[in-house]
Amino acid sequence: MRDILPPESGRWRRFTAVFADVVEAAGYQQVIPPLLEDLGVFTRIGDATDVVTKEMYDFVDKGDRRVALRPEQTASVCRAFAQHRPPVLPWKVFYSGPNFRYEKPQRGRYRQFDQVGIEVLGVDDPMLDVEVIALGWEFYRALGLQQVTLIVNSLGEPGDRSRYVEALRTHFEAAGEQLTEQSRVTLAKNPLRVLDSKRDPDQPFIATAPQIADFYGDDAAEHFAAVQAGLQSLGIPFTVEPKLVRGLDYYRSTIFEFQGGTFESAQNGLGGGGRYDGLVEALGGPATPGIGFALGVDRTLIACDDEGCFAAEPLQLDAFVVDVVGGLEAAAITAELRAAGLSADRGYDNRSMKAQMKLANRSGAACAVIIGEQEVADGSIIVKPMRGGDQVTIPRSGLIAQLSETRTHD
Ligand code: AMP
Repeated sequence: MRDILPPESGRWRRFTAVFADVVEAAGYQQVIPPLLEDLGVFTRIGDATDVVTKEMYDFVDKGDRRVALRPEQTASVCRAFAQHRPPVLPWKVFYSGPNFRYEKPQRGRYRQFDQVGIEVLGVDDPMLDVEVIALGWEFYRALGLQQVTLIVNSLGEPGDRSRYVEALRTHFEAAGEQLTEQSRVTLAKNPLRVLDSKRDPDQPFIATAPQIADFYGDDAAEHFAAVQAGLQSLGIPFTVEPKLVRGLDYYRSTIFEFQGGTFESAQNGLGGGGRYDGLVEALGGPATPGIGFALGVDRTLIACDDEGCFAAEPLQLDAFVVDVVGGLEAAAITAELRAAGLSADRGYDNRSMKAQMKLANRSGAACAVIIGEQEVADGSIIVKPMRGGDQVTIPRSGLIAQLSETRTHD
């Protein structure tokens, strides 16, 4: 688990703010689920998912409850929906915050990692799938990422999916011991997930596996065709990837993944999502269609570094108050600047003028505001622009106007 320090932490905050701007403009409102949930909320995600079976931080609390730190937030949002039953549908929400998975830490994979995401509950319209995917796409554009690619697939309606799963089971069972041991274990639980294997000995059997498209009924085929037509009409490039199954078991119908152009394939998933029409019901709510995505903050920021966009920015202050007199004067001036909406820091501890000017420089402030004995005596103040230009001595009463002026010209 990592500390995120300045100036990187400022970038995280802007990241979330940009995301909120993009999705709020489309009618999504924030939901803030707890970090800790009843374990059952997550075990209902599926027992063939590593996230649930191997990677969960679960424990017994002081009240003898089995609880877990959330490994993701879709299940929490669906639990919240089932619990609170929002009256107006669709319920369009977004979230951001940390999740916990006991994974092997490496570049782009951490035990505490952040996601931003959206979920929409209560509507089964393919145009909603298009909207959700388009918002993810738009967000990457807003960050300045150019190399993200989009892959989509459909797992069909539940009936189609079941028939496909059985066909896969037959296919992979025929491979017998030629499949890796891990894949044989996965096969017993969820044959779909065998398609996700990156292990070499499994590849020939994955390559010859039945294709989901051959199992779509009319509804699934129509829905998926409408999603593709919608994406095309918005000019969003995508590839249909018939072997895309996604990590969590609850998905059906439309699923998608955004991939970074600069990563090793095991870590190139920047985010993804899909329809999960049975999840609210599994969590005790009414049968409710749902779709959403989650985008990894940590990994997307690595992609930004790789592509040279959305960089961390040093703090920009309007002023740094250099206090050469001590006493209350500098405190009063700093407070006055802040009250006027200007950002200001100051020197402390009666340090030398030289030491404070160094701090002023490092602070990234546009101006140093210098107050010495002479200035206190005659009610003036010195303003020294830090990025070129001459210092001026002005009446103390004109300080705010002078700094606001510098700010507009900066
Ligand atoms: P998932 O919830 O597994 O569908 O993951 C969605 C996105 O969250 C991924 O594409 C990653 O960007 C990110 N993610 C998932 N697990 C981790 C992790 N352990 N560390 C960092 N990012 C992760």
